[in-house]
Amino acid sequence: MKQVTTYTGKKVLVLGLAMSGASAAKLLMRLGADVTVSDLKPLAENPEAQALQAAGCKVITGEQTPDQLSAGFDLMVKNPGISYDVPIVKRALELKLPIVGEMELASEIAEAELVAVTGSNGKTTTTTMIQKMLDHDRQAGKAVYAGNIGVPASKVAQEVSADDTLVLEISSFMLTETTAFHPHIAVLTNIFSNHLDYHKTRANYVAAKMKITANQTADDYFVVNFDNPEWRELSQKSAAQVVPFSRENNSQEGSYEADGTLYFRGEAIMPASEVKVPGDHNIENALAAIAVAKLEGVSNAAIVGVLRSFGGVRHRTQYVLEAEGRQYYNDSKATDMEATEMALKGFKAPVVLLAGGLDRGYTFEKMIPAFKAHVKAIILFGETAKLLEDTAKEAGIKTIKMSENVETAVPLAYELSDPGDIILLSPANASWDQYPSFEVRGDRFIKAVEKLTGKQEEA
Ligand code: ADP
Repeated sequence: MKQVTTYTGKKVLVLGLAMSGASAAKLLMRLGADVTVSDLKPLAENPEAQALQAAGCKVITGEQTPDQLSAGFDLMVKNPGISYDVPIVKRALELKLPIVGEMELASEIAEAELVAVTGSNGKTTTTTMIQKMLDHDRQAGKAVYAGNIGVPASKVAQEVSADDTLVLEISSFMLTETTAFHPHIAVLTNIFSNHLDYHKTRANYVAAKMKITANQTADDYFVVNFDNPEWRELSQKSAAQVVPFSRENNSQEGSYEADGTLYFRGEAIMPASEVKVPGDHNIENALAAIAVAKLEGVSNAAIVGVLRSFGGVRHRTQYVLEAEGRQYYNDSKATDMEATEMALKGFKAPVVLLAGGLDRGYTFEKMIPAFKAHVKAIILFGETAKLLEDTAKEAGIKTIKMSENVETAVPLAYELSDPGDIILLSPANASWDQYPSFEVRGDRFIKAVEKLTGKQEEA
C-alpha cells in the first residue's frame, strides 16, 4: 500500500463500525493515527469493538451524542449509512471537522489502478461483470472488487499491488464523502430518483453521483449510459474522455446494441441473446462492462466467456429453481420501482409477483404499465401493501392477495400460479420494515421455496 503520512499522529473519530468502519479504523492505526471508534452496539455484544480495543484502539459504545466530540478530533471517518442529520454529525460540521469517507481512505492508499462503478441500479451486477472480465486472461496481477458490494474497500486496498486493478462499487452516500477520489475509469449506469430521503433533493443526488468523475482528467474515461438525455448531458461536465453505452443509439464512440448484436466502436462482440443474465437491464450492464473491458484491452474471447457463463448475483433476479412447471426467481435486491419494472420486463411468461416493504413516502402509479403487461397475480406484504394494492387494482390485476410476510406469501403464490408461470420476489421497496436486510429477505424467500417444493436452490 502507499505510505501516506496525512493521518500520522492525527486524532480520528471513526463513527459506526458496520461493514467498513472497523476496516477503516485498522487502516488508520496502521497509518499512525490516534483512533477512537464510536459504535451504537454495547461493548459486550460487539466483537468488532472488542477486537479493536484489544488492538489498542479507543472505543466508545452506545448512543452517538455530540459530546463524544469533546475529546477534540482532527477528523471524522463517518459510516456512509449515518445521515448528516444526526446530532453528532451536525456538530462535527459546525466544528468544521473534516469528514473523510472510508472509500476516500482506500483510494489514497491503493497502489492498484481504480475502476469505479456508480448508478442507481445495476452497480453490483456491472461491477461483478467488469471484475470477471478484467481478471480473465490478464498478463499480470489480478482484478478484485470491493466497496458497496460488501467487501470493505479500505481492507482490499491494503492488499493490492500496482499490477492489480481494483474495481470499486460506490454508492451515492460513499461519493458524498469523497474529495480527491480519482478512478481511471468511472462508470455511471443510470440515475433514478432513489434515496431522496438521504440526499433531500434530486439535484443533490445527481451531484453526489457526478463526484465519481470530479477529479478525472483527459487521461481518464467516463463510461456513461446514453439512453437518457439527462445522463448524456451530465457527461459533458466530465473532463475525462466520455465513452457512451447505449441500447437505443449506435454510439460509435462506445458500446451499443444493434439488430440483436452487441458492438464496441463498430466491432461486433457477441449476440445479445447469449448474455446469460436475463432482461434488457442486464444488456445495459453488459454494455457498460464491455466498454470498460475493451478500454482495458481485454480480449473478445474473455468478454464473451464471462457474459455467456455469469448467471447473475445472488438476490438480483436470481434464478432459484423450477418445480411443477413454475420457475422461482429471487430479486430481493429490487428495493425501488425501477428495479422491479426491469425485472418484470425481463420475463415473457405470466408473473405471480411478491412485493411490498418499507414505506419511503412514494406511490406506485409508475408501475401500472409493467403490472398490466406482466403480472397475473400479486401478493403484498409490508408497510406499502395497501398502496401497492391500489396500484394493482388500477392496473386491472384480478388476483390481489395480502400476506403477512415473504415466507407466508410463497405458498399463496403457488396456489395462484399455473405451470409455465414465473413466481418472482421483486419487492419494489427496501426490506427494513420487516427484515434486517434485503439479503435476509431473499434468503427467507429461498428457504420458503425450498420448503414448499422439497427441492434445493440451484447453484
Ligand atoms: P445495485 O447494486 O445498483 O443495487 P444490482 O446489480 O444489485 O444493482 O441490481 C439490483 C436490481 O436492480 C436488480 O435486481 C435488477 O432488478 C435491477 N437492475 C439491475 N441492473 C439494472 C439497470 N441497468 N437498470 C435498471 N435496473 C437494473
